[in-house]
Amino acid sequence: MRVVVAGGAGFLGSHLCDALIARGDQVVCVDNFVTGSADNVAHLRDNSSFDFLEHDITEQFDVPGQVDAVMNLASPASPKDYYALPIETLDVGSIGTRNLLELCRIHDAIFFMASTSEVYGDPAIHPQTEDYWGNVNPIGQRSMYDEAKRFSEALTFAYHRTHGVPIRVVRIFNTYGPRMQPDDGRVVSNFITQALRGESLTIYGDGAQTRSFCFVEDEVSGFLALLDSDETGPINIGNPGEFTMLELADLVNELTGNEAGIAFEALPSDDPKQRQPDIALATSKLGWSPQIKLREGLERTIPFFADAIGVEHALR
Ligand code: NAD
Ligand code: UDP
Repeated sequence: MRVVVAGGAGFLGSHLCDALIARGDQVVCVDNFVTGSADNVAHLRDNSSFDFLEHDITEQFDVPGQVDAVMNLASPASPKDYYALPIETLDVGSIGTRNLLELCRIHDAIFFMASTSEVYGDPAIHPQTEDYWGNVNPIGQRSMYDEAKRFSEALTFAYHRTHGVPIRVVRIFNTYGPRMQPDDGRVVSNFITQALRGESLTIYGDGAQTRSFCFVEDEVSGFLALLDSDETGPINIGNPGEFTMLELADLVNELTGNEAGIAFEALPSDDPKQRQPDIALATSKLGWSPQIKLREGLERTIPFFADAIGVEHALR
């Protein structure tokens, strides 16, 4: 297949480019580097299966030649990034998604939409199943991201129903691993960089809120399983192993040997209290389930961060 990966210079997108090329696909990576980095795909620059187009997908564009699938990972994704880029986030979720759907309509290509567990907002049911409609504050601090993704899903289904575009919608739950930006403000990035610097880990609120963390390799294998299926989704892809932020902090401090402890800070508004994917659909329809537990995933992630921030480190 020849696959366009929008947002391919980001954390998840770059791993996706690697996985597609590894199995023999051709990749056209499209990115404007607003939150991603050329470093993430530097190793692919000379690969004959890889093309790069620097472009903002909110501007209409075409990709010459054959296009079999378009995978839309383009969007600011960490709360720090989308707070800083609220209008860009809404634009990329709406205009950007529409431009990619048009590309699919013209090329008879499959459209793959990277949606998010944030469509469930601060969920009132637990764990979250795909038929739950969510609990989102439409004007809250996270609304630019949550509503952009909800709009993207609606637009994707509108193109499917109106124009017959084949679609795959994945709802991604918190994913971590090498190539996250050390300063992206996400909890895994913050905790690991703080621990490596011997600082106390910043817990927002009382630390009893939960998240379920999926290692990037597992997440990307779920993307490919969905792409290769004929399921429209939406389908949850995430690791159901659920942890409080206090538990995560303890584990990061243990793995890094950090003795600076934790420091409590204010909880941002509309911060979801709990999050855990129900992956029964992914398991039954795609035969997919995550393989890498949090401890192992962190052990594989910490050396990347040590290198990225220039700190000597040996795992405990
Ligand atoms: P990221 O910020 O590393 O990657 C996003 C990429 O999109 C970046 O390279 C950025 O430069 C690019 N981009 C943004 N706006 C663009 C535009 N207008 N035109 C072209 N490129 C643009 O984030 P990530 O963690 O890799 O997330 C990738 C996708 O997965 C996002 O859509 C995000 O919403 C979704 N997602 C991620 C997670 C997670 O835990 N990482 C969870 C849920 C959903
Ligand atoms: N968080 C925290 N300390 C940090 C960064 C984040 O306690 O230094 C909390 C945050 O309030 C949230 C959870 O960790 O409850 C996950 O935050 P992240 O930004 O990684 O992802 P999201 O909230 O989008 O799931």
